[in-house]
Amino acid sequence: MAVKAKRNSTRRIHIGTVPIGGGAPVAVQSMTNTDTRDVLATVDQIERLSTAGCEIIRLAIPDQEAATAFGEIKSRVETPLIADIHFDYRLALAALEKGADGLRINPGNIGGRKAISKITEVAGDLNVPIRIGVNSGSLHNEVLEKHGRPSPEAMVESALMNIALMEDLGFEQMKISLKSSNVLDTIRAYELLSEKVKYPLHLGVTEAGTLISGTVKSAIGIGQLLSKGIGDTFRVSLTRDPVEEVRVAYEILRAVDLRHRGPEIISCPTCGRCEIDLFGLVEKVEEALATIEASPKVAIMGCVVNGPGEAREADIGVAGGRGQGILFKKGEIIRKIPEHKLADILINEVKNLVK
Ligand code: SF4
Repeated sequence: MAVKAKRNSTRRIHIGTVPIGGGAPVAVQSMTNTDTRDVLATVDQIERLSTAGCEIIRLAIPDQEAATAFGEIKSRVETPLIADIHFDYRLALAALEKGADGLRINPGNIGGRKAISKITEVAGDLNVPIRIGVNSGSLHNEVLEKHGRPSPEAMVESALMNIALMEDLGFEQMKISLKSSNVLDTIRAYELLSEKVKYPLHLGVTEAGTLISGTVKSAIGIGQLLSKGIGDTFRVSLTRDPVEEVRVAYEILRAVDLRHRGPEIISCPTCGRCEIDLFGLVEKVEEALATIEASPKVAIMGCVVNGPGEAREADIGVAGGRGQGILFKKGEIIRKIPEHKLADILINEVKNLVK
């Protein structure tokens, strides 16, 4: 009988120390965009990603030199690392030897059953999970011909073929991703697959785009699936510093009330009543609080029309006035603050609150 891949019923795997599936908290992933062969730059980016809350980090391994560097990087960081391999199974074996916590492969381009069996044999011995990544841009030819286009049904059929191959090789430490840059196709594909397999699902909308378009596509695609109970881990893809992907990921998790990390900033869009530089204030406060793990509500409002009401609902907040702001804490007016001191005082107040 088909097993639904809903979060609480998927089978549990571990990427290093991070549990995935079986009701574990939805894990946030990203991928470095440094040259993996540049150990220092890659370690630096991994540290920045970890500080932002990234729990699993994927690195591209395009050649043997990168595989060697992967080992050096692995010895310098604590966050679990996944090696992303295409075309050459020997790179997967090298990454496993260097301590990869997980592999991401596309069985369609890694060199056939023999190559895959070599990978599963070693990964199985080391108890290292493999993500089977099916991408709408690289489906099996026969599947494409049958469906006429890389439809959700085609992606699922391709995934099931790959899963059957892995199971036939005796390997079940898998998670599955089905990626398309079309948001509705992505949602449909994951919905269909979640009805058919028990493996944890890695969500993502591939090549999502720039900060604005990528955030919107990811929030709708990933957010909708997560709110339906589908998806055990995910990556937001942006043409951007990957740290931004992690911030967006946590905002999605907050919006669907699954995980809360970092202050929730509630700010108004401003209007003709605003008499302070609210955009500058919000940016400065958001940046200064970006690495805080606690999640107080911080209201930053432009004026006293709606400002105090929102600010009172928050743990802490300010409502702007002419060249000044009123500080609120837990619903109580604390004091008036001149505009040039607003950012620093609000930042300090939030830091003291979460100490
Ligand atoms: Fe305008 Fe004040 Fe509302 Fe902000 S809080 S949008 S400044 S009325």
